[in-house]
Amino acid sequence: MPGKTMLGPHPCARCGRTMKLPSELDQETYTQTCDVCAFKPAFVEAIQTIDQAKVWSYPAPGPTDRLRPIKIGYSTCASCAGKGCDGCLTIYNAHPVRVWIKEREERIKRAAQSVYEKELKREGILDLAKKDCAPAARLQRALGPMMIKYERIVSFWRALVTSRLKPLSMSRR
Ligand SMILES: [Zn+2]
Ligand SMILES: [Zn+2]
Repeated sequence: MPGKTMLGPHPCARCGRTMKLPSELDQETYTQTCDVCAFKPAFVEAIQTIDQAKVWSYPAPGPTDRLRPIKIGYSTCASCAGKGCDGCLTIYNAHPVRVWIKEREERIKRAAQSVYEKELKREGILDLAKKDCAPAARLQRALGPMMIKYERIVSFWRALVTSRLKPLSMSRR
């Protein structure tokens, strides 16, 4: 196809095999993973200790959508028997710990946004940034302090969440 951008061969982020196929290196459908990893059969990626939720990784839908969808399943579910369904996902999202996580993450995002806006104001480009026409170099200067603060908060936050959710098993293949 004309205008297609292909990346150079490099290792798959999941299995490490060198990706060489056009389907793997087409920038438009690129997902850092090889075709084998994208389309292999469904497997349980993790089981979460708080409620035994199974986190499934399902095969990617097709060549134009190479991202593997995640499904949630409980073994006790009458309609999916733990293979993953929307009903299970609803139960999953309603768990108080996950609700707490989501609220905190939104709060962190809002805090980061307000730090960024403060920096934009200090650079004198808040209005330009809102209109999407601020100079890139100055945007970068405003982004710097926010990213440093944000990354520190996020890494602390990830550790906290991991300790709360403690996956029972992780198969990262
Ligand atoms: Zn792979
Ligand atoms: Zn279900």
